[in-house]
Amino acid sequence: MISRTISEESIKKAKVLIDRAERIVTVCHTAPDGDAIGSSLAAVHVLGALGKECRAIVPDAYNANLAKLPGAKEIVDATRYPDFAARLFDQADLVICLDFNEPRRTGRLEKTLRDCKAPKILIDHHLHPDIEADVIISHPEMAATAYLLFRFICRLELFNFINKPAAECILAGMMTDTGNFSYNCADPDLYIVVAELLRKGADKDALYKQLFNTLSENSMRLNAYAVYEKMEVFPDEGAALIVLSREELNRFHYVKGDTEALVNRPLAIPGVVYSAFLREETDMVKVSMRSTGDFPVNVLCKEHFGGGGHLNAAGGEFYGTLEEAAGLFRSLLKENKEKYIK
Ligand code: 5GP
Ligand code: MN
Repeated sequence: MISRTISEESIKKAKVLIDRAERIVTVCHTAPDGDAIGSSLAAVHVLGALGKECRAIVPDAYNANLAKLPGAKEIVDATRYPDFAARLFDQADLVICLDFNEPRRTGRLEKTLRDCKAPKILIDHHLHPDIEADVIISHPEMAATAYLLFRFICRLELFNFINKPAAECILAGMMTDTGNFSYNCADPDLYIVVAELLRKGADKDALYKQLFNTLSENSMRLNAYAVYEKMEVFPDEGAALIVLSREELNRFHYVKGDTEALVNRPLAIPGVVYSAFLREETDMVKVSMRSTGDFPVNVLCKEHFGGGGHLNAAGGEFYGTLEEAAGLFRSLLKENKEKYIK
């Protein structure tokens, strides 16, 4: 038996909203990752099995390696189909918000979400939820939203509605947010859930290959170049930095997702406790950070790089030049060491 975490009151309220609903939409954060997409699709599969009409709406494109998840073809990308997405929100009698803590994180859907009159249920694992929702199920101690969603579904007594596609999507979310069970995964209950998902028919080996070990030639070369030529290591300050300009990304025909795992790589170097990757976009610098132990990259991203996230995985958007972002990171090294590294 796994522990009971979600409050009885939340479950009761959510049950009423789901029972009443006929047309449900899910929404997640921008640049959706495996947890955002996995949770959204799992909700679609389970609610579909219950006889509800349910569509997953995403603010913008997700990585190509997620496109093979069951149901991914039915996802509505609000950047490509803004009118359709708006119509779905209009007609919805329930909105399920997955894997984000504030409306701002839904990017172009922020206003639509705020204006939407339908009741909302939030299921998320980011710190400090700040959203108007009828039911807020926020558990930052959970390794993935997909894992929390599994618990939610079980508490609604809908375990039997978790079919093979739903199981696969939940497992994909859990694998993504734990780096295939390599960090943030000390919770024994996680593995009970994995066992249940495998019993439901989820193919973990195939998911691993799809999510973690499929790389285009361009992407492999770009990552190798980034590590070989562009990685700066600051051994005295326990840090590493990789910066890639637009020109460099173009040279390797960068497509979304190509540098997904790059920021983790420097953490393999003994003594490096946090790592940053700065990627030049057209109008800003996308910041991605990872750490080990109790170094809070979420604080660093929130205070200096227009973002936030989790203790060990965070990101942000820096409005300035790539050089300014890199300079700022370097200028904070000493201060960070004093504050956070014993
Ligand atoms: P990634 O580095 O994979 O893009 O993001 C890692 C985590 O950092 C995400 O799961 C999310 O929690 C957080 N994050 C990334 N980008 C942003 C951002 O622009 N704003 C905020 N608030 N959080 C972000
Ligand atoms: Mn997540």
